[in-house]
Amino acid sequence: MKKIHDLFGSMVFNDAVMREKLPKDIYRALKKTMLQGMHLELDVANVVAAAMKDWAVEKGATHFTHWFQPMTGTTAEKHDSFIEPCGDGCGIMAFSGKSLVRGEPDASSFPSGGLRATFEARGYTVWDTTSYAFIKDGTLCIPTAFCSYSGEALDKKTPLLRSMEAIDKQAIRILRLFGDTASQRVVAQVGPEQEYFLVDKEMFLKRPDLVYTGRTLFGARPPKGQELEDQYFGSIKPRVSDFMKELDEELWKLGVYAKTKHNEVAPAQHELAPIYATTNIATDHNQLTMEMMKTIADRHGLTCLLHEKPFAGVNGSGKHNNWSISTDTGVNLLEPGQTPHEDAQFLLFLVAVIKAVDEYQDLLRVSAASAGNDHRLGANEAPPAIVSIFIGEELAEILESLESSADYQGKEREIMEIGVTVLPHFTKDTTDRNRTSPFAFTGNKFEFRMLGSAFSVAGPNIVLNTAIAEILGQFADLLEKSGDFSGDLAALIKNTFKKHKRIVFNGNNYSDEWVAEAERRGLSNLKTTVDALPEFISEKSIELFTKHNVFIESEIHSRHDILMEGYCKTIHIEALTMVDMVKGIIIPACVDYQNDLTRLLGQKKACGEYDASLEEYLLKNIAKLSACLLRRLTVLESAVLEAKEEADILVHAKFYRDKVYSAMSELRFIVDELETFVARKHWPLPNYADILFSVI
Ligand code: ADP
Ligand code: MG
Repeated sequence: MKKIHDLFGSMVFNDAVMREKLPKDIYRALKKTMLQGMHLELDVANVVAAAMKDWAVEKGATHFTHWFQPMTGTTAEKHDSFIEPCGDGCGIMAFSGKSLVRGEPDASSFPSGGLRATFEARGYTVWDTTSYAFIKDGTLCIPTAFCSYSGEALDKKTPLLRSMEAIDKQAIRILRLFGDTASQRVVAQVGPEQEYFLVDKEMFLKRPDLVYTGRTLFGARPPKGQELEDQYFGSIKPRVSDFMKELDEELWKLGVYAKTKHNEVAPAQHELAPIYATTNIATDHNQLTMEMMKTIADRHGLTCLLHEKPFAGVNGSGKHNNWSISTDTGVNLLEPGQTPHEDAQFLLFLVAVIKAVDEYQDLLRVSAASAGNDHRLGANEAPPAIVSIFIGEELAEILESLESSADYQGKEREIMEIGVTVLPHFTKDTTDRNRTSPFAFTGNKFEFRMLGSAFSVAGPNIVLNTAIAEILGQFADLLEKSGDFSGDLAALIKNTFKKHKRIVFNGNNYSDEWVAEAERRGLSNLKTTVDALPEFISEKSIELFTKHNVFIESEIHSRHDILMEGYCKTIHIEALTMVDMVKGIIIPACVDYQNDLTRLLGQKKACGEYDASLEEYLLKNIAKLSACLLRRLTVLESAVLEAKEEADILVHAKFYRDKVYSAMSELRFIVDELETFVARKHWPLPNYADILFSVI
């Protein structure tokens, strides 16, 4: 193996490569575009494109693509070769500045939620200069934003970049108030921990449900699941370890700082965490990570499952979104400081997050909503659908002590000093690790844990960046006008905490008492995707996103519709897959087994002297279950038929949730019962134990 040093970033057109390959003035012009968003002149783009092409061809690339993130949540690419005719029947390798900066993929087949219909079928891709180009599978990939003819965002990257600008703008205003004149930018940073399952590919291919829907729609519980907790952090099996090593290497080549890997709680479940990066790069890298996981698993005869709940009864997979903001001078604004002055600033950012999460809890919930994740949120493995914040006992005490200063009117400044003198004792390691909180402060960052494993991290970070930008903006409006900065600052911190502390919960989020307590506190409990998504198109949401130029109203409606439709389509495909499997695989298997048993019974009866009670018992039970199976199959089939296109998307989605999905659960129950009666050799699908314990 090459040394990591040589390997790392070897497939990335990064800063070092740019410096080496570009003339000095071109490099400087490009850097200006990257750092300050300056317009890139075509003559500069031409030189950059030529250098990129030479570099890529040297590394064996033959094609280029504008790599973008449509609203499907995955990535899209259309490959064009570098080949250009040169008149005499020959071809040369060429790449123009125009092709680098802008593309026009035929975008009519990507979901637009109605955005494109009113304008034009074409879409444009535009180079995101803040994310480096890279080579993947012989193709030079240019990270791009994707928008419609008239400029509406058709992707996840554009609003994310806009939200980063929003938080930058407002956080800088706050920093200036604290006398920081050095910082030019504030960036939001993310480290996403990615959970996934690895199963044997042969087993996977024998399960149409896994192939079509990513999760098992049937499956009786195995004798052993995760009860012994012997998988978590356990030694990694050789086949998995080989996979992980190759994955690390491939990710390093792409400039992804893959850092931590370990076994997770469920059998066959694992996790990978990279070192955090700016939000848009972390998002690009997480998409690449998910893609590489699938590609590399395949090379090892394995299949990587990124679904949130591939197996009932064992833990599903999530994605923890570790989030913080820091200045371009390298100061983490969520890190308690060294001086009272810095601590006051830290407390202000902290209460800004508390207020933002309280006021926009519904939008955070929306950002984690999908049919797949509905199986996790609220189950005893992932945070509930109720959003709350964990800040640890120590910080809670500091804020409480500030708050109780209400009794000492006019003495806020003094109390503030009390608060901040306590702070220096506060260290990261003392925050007890609350694993059940959906939004936990972990020393110098917040960990949002509601996200599902298959999600793009763009969604929650758009919400976080924008909601916190809004609150920081409100704070700045107030403090910029203040004649008594320290006094008003102390009052602001105190009052904000007082008003929003209902969202702070340091206890066990998995307990039933919390559900009741949260209700008493007036917190939302949007249990399913269908309950959550309407909040996205609420007046409050539209006001927030349009105010900060993150979305225009039509972009919000389009995304809402795509998400709702996605929910319906997911359940529709699952229902059809179930029907197909029951009719084509499960019923024939039951019939075969019943035939075998009947033949045996006949033989025994013919002999007269044998006890046939076992066969009779089995036949009776299978017949009973089969009759029930047939009834429930009919119910599901007619529910699917009835779920015709409704004009109202919400009514449509509710029908899928209340009628189709519940018919699916009823059907599953019977099939899982049948699995326990039918002889192993007759059962046509690999069972849970086969799948979960097959990789050795
Ligand atoms: P855990 O103990 O929560 O499982 P991991 O080490 O698996 O922790 O992952 C923590 C993630 O948080 C990593 O991706 C790490 O880079 C990221 N992280 C650390 N500090 C910050 C920060 N200041 N901002 C954002 N992410 C961070
Ligand atoms: Mg972890």
